[in-house]
Amino acid sequence: MRLLVVEDDIDLNRQLVAALEEAGYAVDKAFDGEEGHFLGDTEPYDAIVLDIGLPKKDGLSVLEEWRRAGRKTPVLLLTARGGWSDKVHGFDAGADDYVAKPFHMEEVLARLRALMRRAAGHASSELVCGPVRLDTRSSRVTIDGNPIRLTSHEYRLLSYMMHHQGRIVSRTELVEHIYDQDFDRDSNTVEVFVGRLRKKLGVDVLQTVRGLGYLVAAPPPGSGR
Ligand code: CA
Repeated sequence: MRLLVVEDDIDLNRQLVAALEEAGYAVDKAFDGEEGHFLGDTEPYDAIVLDIGLPKKDGLSVLEEWRRAGRKTPVLLLTARGGWSDKVHGFDAGADDYVAKPFHMEEVLARLRALMRRAAGHASSELVCGPVRLDTRSSRVTIDGNPIRLTSHEYRLLSYMMHHQGRIVSRTELVEHIYDQDFDRDSNTVEVFVGRLRKKLGVDVLQTVRGLGYLVAAPPPGSGR
């Protein structure tokens, strides 16, 4: 999964990016409203953290423009403490959730997880496919209860696929959701990651759909999805 952080406070931006990367996400960053708007308009993020008070263009205007253009990416607003009118205007502008500053990083992480799983139609923070369980809270993967050690790219790939169970995901789409902007992208490396992931999982979870991409089968109905 790939995220965007738009925050002009350099320290806070750095803390957010570090925490999100640590949690297993690919993360892009912007420090003003114009840059943030451009990235959110052109890159397919899974969620965006957006500060309201930004130079060049304020966060609410950025959000309104995305929504007017039909961008549905889940957005978590960063508001000032006690700024109730910010929250009201934020929801009206199309925000999905907010956290007030100063916040605990754990709360930001939990709210983002909730936004992303809801956007993908999952009720639980643990994603399950057969013997494979991916816990989005701890970024851990187990097979029949045994932990599997994955690299950050392998985890992102599996996490994206498991968020989108039952849908064929093209290689291009995967590339867009597992690498940050600065990464030297090459869609061939996706095949390498898929190969390694299959070997580590040792179970047939990640199917290749010839000419189209990859598929993780949807769980049977009523299985907690
Ligand atoms: Ca600010």
